Amino acid sequence: MGFYSTEINNPYIVDVGCGSNKIGNSKSVVGCDMFPSSDDIIQAAADDLPFESGSVDILFSAHCLEHMANPIKTLQEWCRVVGDDGVIWLVLPHRNRTFDSLRDLTAVEHLFDDLAENTPEEDMTHWEEFRAKVILSGHRLVPSEYIMPAQENKFTYFNSKRLIHHHVWTLGTFIDLVKALGLEVTYGIEQVPGREDSFSIIFKGVMHDSI
Ligand SMILES: [Zn+2]
Repeated sequence: MGFYSTEINNPYIVDVGCGSNKIGNSKSVVGCDMFPSSDDIIQAAADDLPFESGSVDILFSAHCLEHMANPIKTLQEWCRVVGDDGVIWLVLPHRNRTFDSLRDLTAVEHLFDDLAENTPEEDMTHWEEFRAKVILSGHRLVPSEYIMPAQENKFTYFNSKRLIHHHVWTLGTFIDLVKALGLEVTYGIEQVPGREDSFSIIFKGVMHDSI
């Protein structure tokens, strides 16, 4: 492995969709979120980031992309901000180990359709499946406050808070997506230490021109 020098500049790290659990301390990581939990977090949608192209060295995001109705559009934005030299490091829920366990995995083709159709974040395509197979499934990981709004079919409650898991992956199917985008996978971690519901993946942000 590489030689580590203290003379290497600190990377510029952004945590997208950080919620109130931003990685690192406030000086070394810039947090951004649709719903900032404190003044030092930038208010931004994950698919429209206020960073110059190529200005971010490491884009970290945990449990965010599954909430996006148009994930490839979001990944394109993330590739833009990390540019040729940066990396994207994601932690995502593993279908088999979270409350999505009764759902079908998302096909790569579906995500390209979402991109081609410019699917908006108000998309209801996956709402009924999420409502029936997740919230009302009785799964132990479903937050109790989700139950009544789901019983009352309140899409707006879930959509306004970006609570819906639109798409569902395992490490293997997410690698398929990354490769279909012409991106280079650096590491895949089947199960995140200390977070058993999650897998993790690190990939380079250089996207094939044709995407
Ligand atoms: Zn979709």
